Amino acid sequence: MTDQVIILGDGAAGLSMALAMAKANKHVTLIGANKTPADRNLGGVQMAANGWSALSELGCDAAVWEHAKRLELMRIMSLANGHSLVSIPLDEQHRRQPYASVTRHGLITSLAAAVAAAPCITHVTATATHIESHADQAVVIDSDQRTYKADWVFGADGMMGLCRQYVDGGDKITPNKITPNKITPRRTSRYATRFHVPLDTLPPVLASASTSVWLGRMGHMVHYPLADGHLNLVVMTHDSNDGDDENRQAQRWASVMSLIAAHPWLDSADQNLARENAYMMPLQSWPRCDSWIRGRVVVTGDSAHQMPPHLAQGTGQALIDAASLSRMLSGGMAMTDAIPAWAGMRMRRIRSVLASAEQAGNLFAPPPILSPVRDIMVGLGGMAIMPRILDKIWSDQL
Ligand SMILES: Cc1cc2nc3c(=O)[nH]c(=O)nc-3n(C[C@H](O)[C@H](O)[C@H](O)COP(=O)(O)OP(=O)(O)OC[C@H]3O[C@@H](n4cnc5c(N)ncnc54)[C@H](O)[C@@H]3O)c2cc1C
Repeated sequence: MTDQVIILGDGAAGLSMALAMAKANKHVTLIGANKTPADRNLGGVQMAANGWSALSELGCDAAVWEHAKRLELMRIMSLANGHSLVSIPLDEQHRRQPYASVTRHGLITSLAAAVAAAPCITHVTATATHIESHADQAVVIDSDQRTYKADWVFGADGMMGLCRQYVDGGDKITPNKITPNKITPRRTSRYATRFHVPLDTLPPVLASASTSVWLGRMGHMVHYPLADGHLNLVVMTHDSNDGDDENRQAQRWASVMSLIAAHPWLDSADQNLARENAYMMPLQSWPRCDSWIRGRVVVTGDSAHQMPPHLAQGTGQALIDAASLSRMLSGGMAMTDAIPAWAGMRMRRIRSVLASAEQAGNLFAPPPILSPVRDIMVGLGGMAIMPRILDKIWSDQL
């Protein structure tokens, strides 16, 4: 009998896992909370060769490429003096293509179009509120008390979702009572502030086909052009932990503005860089998820391996989760055998990506007093170390 699969969450991880399951002839119910595009689809992501090969496995690379801009160079620059510290060509000769920025909206709509065209996927708009796993089936209940049953549930509901809690938290058993053991993220002092700025309002140099990391005293910033004619700009800052909440918020914003003011081609008086046009989010850090499976519930994407954004690998790794399971199932393996084998393989591989992303974050964001030392270290050792780490990640096969 054909397996019935529920996928919870319709971001990149959920949509791509739905396509992987459809390719393996499973009956899929994809449940998504239907967040507004402005909420989750602003700006873009960078996608390296490993992410593109996953999209190709799922048959979506050409559609997503319509929303992509090929990037030719990755640079790390010093905001203190404008010097280039590291310059990595993203060319064919070094086997670093395809490498491109993709609009989040374009990525999600391309995957959603492929899902809509797959007859064995039913896409439901609902918010799941309860999940449980039994010996022979898993059950999801939504906020309207509708019940969904399947052989397997894939939790692609992001780092704050239900499924990570269910799979990783386990139960807390006290006399006479079993309660879910809630896991909570560790608050880091780091914040990411995202801007989506029309390129025609900026100096033309910012439209060049490169991704640039600028290292500054109060944090760092990353920018690259997008195919929709905007600059994707993310400013990473860290709190000094002084004062009350209101004070901290003001300090956070002052740090963002001080980095923008130090940038040679950005203007802190630009209305597009005003507070009301910014989306500021705390960067949370979760304990590592040491099991991806509980009974018939399996986690994938950020739900399984939320990572700091410093290597631009979160979405790519979510796509690889789906594509690698698709590849295994195409060999004729049963789900009961394929899922544990896939989870074990993915957990091993993702561990080193997670560690490298953490290290990059620590290197880019030392305490302000050490930032001149960081610039010297990156300038001296960056070209010897960074391409090696990135090439290893980008060339990872499914
Ligand atoms: C600042 C920043 C920059 C980044 N840059 C890059 C980059 O350049 N390249 C890259 O590869 N990655 C990047 N990432 C990481 C990337 O954004 C994430 O890894 C990716 O979005 C994870 O996708 P996901 O589908 O697992 O989770 P999400 O995108 O969080 O999707 C989860 C979905 O589940 C739904 N959901 C949640 N709970 C429920 C529920 N109870 N019922 C129904 N639906 C539910 C939500 O509505 C959502 O649609 C960046 C991240 C940040 C923060």
